[in-house]
This record gives sequence, C-alpha cells and structure tokens, in this order.
Amino acid sequence: MTIGIVGAGQLGRMLALAGYPLGLDFLFLDRSAAAPAAALAPILIGDLADPAQLRKLARRSQVISFDWENASVEGLRAATRGLPTRIAPPLRALATGQDRVAEKRLFERLGVPTTRFAAVNSRAELERAAARIGLPGVLKTRRLGYDGKGQRVVRDRAALAAAWRALGSVALIYEEFVPFEAEVSALGARARDGSEALYPLTRNWHADGILRLSVAPWEDRALERQARAHLRAVLREFRYVGVLAIEFFVRDGRLIANELAPRVHNSGHWTIEGASTSQFENHLRAIAGLPLGSTALLGHSAMVNLIGRMPARAVVLGEQGVHLHDYGKQARAGRKLGHCTLVARSAAERNRRLLRVLGRLEVALASAP
Ligand code: AMP
Repeated sequence: MTIGIVGAGQLGRMLALAGYPLGLDFLFLDRSAAAPAAALAPILIGDLADPAQLRKLARRSQVISFDWENASVEGLRAATRGLPTRIAPPLRALATGQDRVAEKRLFERLGVPTTRFAAVNSRAELERAAARIGLPGVLKTRRLGYDGKGQRVVRDRAALAAAWRALGSVALIYEEFVPFEAEVSALGARARDGSEALYPLTRNWHADGILRLSVAPWEDRALERQARAHLRAVLREFRYVGVLAIEFFVRDGRLIANELAPRVHNSGHWTIEGASTSQFENHLRAIAGLPLGSTALLGHSAMVNLIGRMPARAVVLGEQGVHLHDYGKQARAGRKLGHCTLVARSAAERNRRLLRVLGRLEVALASAP
C-alpha cells in the first residue's frame, strides 16, 4: 500500500520512518527535492496545491494524508475525484484547522471551553472587538499562522493600532489574552471502525510562539478527564481517521482550547520512544485501515526541540539514554531542525535528567561558533 503525503517536512519524514516496518510505501509532494522526507521516499516536485502533481499523487496512492495543515482542501478534493483513493484525516477537519475562527466555532458548538474571540475584517471591527473582549488581547491572522508567526499580543490602544498596521491586510481574529498557568495538549488517534487510542496529557512550554519543550505524562487526573472528553468530542464530530491534537491553556484548573491540528503534532514526538505505539505509527495504522496500537507508556518522557542551530551530535548523545532526531534541514534562526527525547522511570528522575540535557544544550549552543 502506498501512502501519498502532501508536504515532505519532518512530520512526513517521521511518518515514513514509522511506516516502513509496517510494509507501507510512501510518495511525497513538496516544493523542494531537499525536503526532510525526500531522503526516505520518492518525491513529486511541485507546489503543494499544483493540480497536476496532486492528481499524480492521488493516482499512485491508496491513501492521501498531509504533513502540512494548509494543504489545499479544494485541490485534494479535485485530485481524488473519480478515484478510489481515500483522504485521511477528513477534509472537513483539515478545513476547520486552517481557520482559527472555524476552530473556535467548532469548540463552542461542542461545548469545549475556548477563548472569547471575534472575527475582525476592518479597523472598526478591531476597535469593537477590543472594547467587547477587552485588553490585553491577541490579534492573529485567521489563516496560515504557525510557530507564533502572524500574531501580536496587544496590551493597549497604541499597540492595537500597530498590530492592525502589521497584520490588517488579511482576515484576522481577536481573542482574549489568557494568563495561563500552563499549556497542555491532548493527542489521540481514531480508526476507520471508530476505535480510539488516546495518549496521556502532555505539558508544553513555548517561547516566541514556538514549542520548546514537552513532558508526558502530565499527571493531573481532573485535567486529563476534561482533555479526553474534549478530544473525543472532536474526533467523533469529524468521524475522524488519523491522529488529532488539541492545544489547551490551563487556567484555574480548567482547560481552554486554543487550537487543533488535524495531523501528528510536535508535542507528541515523545511517543516515538515513550509510548508502546508512536503517534506516527498510530496515524498510519488509522489511515491504512489497520487496528490501532497501544498507547501504554514506557516511562516518563521529555522532548526538547532543537531550534535554529543543531548542537553537535556527541553533545546530545553524551547524556545516557537520550535519543536524537535530526530532520536533515538547513539551519535557520527560529527553524525546527530536530528534537531529542529521554524516557525515565519516574517524573522526578525525568526532570533531573532533563535539566542536565537542557544544560548541555545551552552550553553547546552558547559555545558554538
Ligand atoms: P498559537 O499559534 O495559537 O498556537 O499560539 C502560539 C503560542 O502563543 C501559544 O502556545 C501561547 O503560548 C501563545 N498564545 C497564543 N494565543 C494566546 C492567548 N489568547 N493568550 C495567551 N497566550 C497565547
């Protein structure tokens, strides 16, 4: 069976790494022949919305998935017309994940608490939104934002005007600023037959809008219960097939949904070493119509993103039990180049070892030329 994947980034690469042992083949579509997954599988070169290349991908694959959540919904629909090729996750979930307003409306409809928000298409609407929702707030582009790009925290009226000048050329969303105690994510897979495999809650730390660090399990029974219920509600709403992630803020012991991702997620990378079946394998099992694998934990995991510059391999691997994932990308400021993980017997041991790893990385990065 060939899995066609739109986008050949690190998520696609890790899908292929998980899929070969299952006997699956892969074909990618990407703009660049040097994309991270290109080292692993054949690649069609072209724009991710290129109708001819999408059609070729659809003809040569039994299932099409995407490693980029801005894959063209219309392009995918057209490419598979008249073919037996399936698309998973479902296009309705993909379309919702591409629009922050649609995400928030979905959360509201399903009773999943989310930030107060307003769609903003003009300066006057922004003024009204800020008056209703209050300051501080966050102004974000409705579409195409990622890793903190396309958003501004707005603390006063002067900042409101500046944020409008910076972002106002496209459709926006204004949302309340949540002074959260923590950020967590819920991750789970749903198979074609409706069976589900949910991972335990992951706690995440971001800086400048980019995920830096995740640890799992984040042991909080009450939050875990809420997260599972919210995740299930969204999975069932879409009759979802594949892995889905929801990111939440934690405030006063309650979850507030920020956004969803209809794909494998950076905050789930720890599952490669830390769970019986990784998010990548479960995504593939789901979309290939296979039974889901156990999400049982193999310990207490931590994952550190390697951003902007790769440390020397020996520095990371010098710490016993640390696993390195190098995505094979060109270094660039703010770019996710790889990650490393560790799995420990207890949360205390994990945290001790994590601090050592973070220390090593800081030393390595600070002393690199
Ligand atoms: P996003 O692109 O929506 O995932 O935002 C990236 C990061 O910015 C989040 O993980 C938070 O750390 C922060 N952030 C986004 N929206 C808000 C908000 N409404 N209130 C507080 N922090 C936010």
